[in-house]
Amino acid sequence: MPANTLQSTVCRQCGKPFDIEAPEAVNVADNPGFKERVQDGSAFVHNCPHCGTVNLVRFRLLYHDPEQRLMIWLIPEDSLSAADREKLDQSMKSMWASLKEGLSDYVFRRVEDPGALIEKVRIFDNGLDDAAMEMCKYVTRMELVQTEKDQAKAAELADVQLRFRGLNGADNELEFVFPLAGAMHSVKAGFNVYEDCRAILGRNPELTPDGPFPQIDSSWVNQHFK
Ligand SMILES: [Zn+2]
Repeated sequence: MPANTLQSTVCRQCGKPFDIEAPEAVNVADNPGFKERVQDGSAFVHNCPHCGTVNLVRFRLLYHDPEQRLMIWLIPEDSLSAADREKLDQSMKSMWASLKEGLSDYVFRRVEDPGALIEKVRIFDNGLDDAAMEMCKYVTRMELVQTEKDQAKAAELADVQLRFRGLNGADNELEFVFPLAGAMHSVKAGFNVYEDCRAILGRNPELTPDGPFPQIDSSWVNQHFK
């Protein structure tokens, strides 16, 4: 197991603070068990010692998968002050500058919550590109909105967060899940949608994510395609 450190969190139910043991950095080639716990989400599930409530704990983690040439920082930012954020940006910049020479074929990413990390791992394990996937999610969500006749529902759908769940069937259909009105829903899209998005990115190399641990998410899509 990777070396654990104590990271503090606050129970969502009783509001009391508690510490969890979690690694700050993990090489999943050396720790395949930890990769499984990221994939199924259990690495982030911790019981509050005060009231027993199950908490999804967001902690800082450097996820490194040398087989997938992938390095992802999970950094829950809502707990950071502006000064801390600035400091963190600087240290990520210098870390990236020292790493990129030796790891030139790596994908470097940054995410804010465990759900986003789990999704990235899934995307890269399927041999897919996360920027094209974000575009696919945008297109698929817009279709959901446009085909919904109920205006109130359509407005809710416009704000949902789609997550890539996997590829299905012989045609490699993309499956996405999203929460709406207290339940999880699923929507599928053809693999051609993904291929079209890949092609658009291929024709626009300036859109290829680069730099110190870029955050590729719905905000990134909105920045470039809205
Ligand atoms: Zn509690």
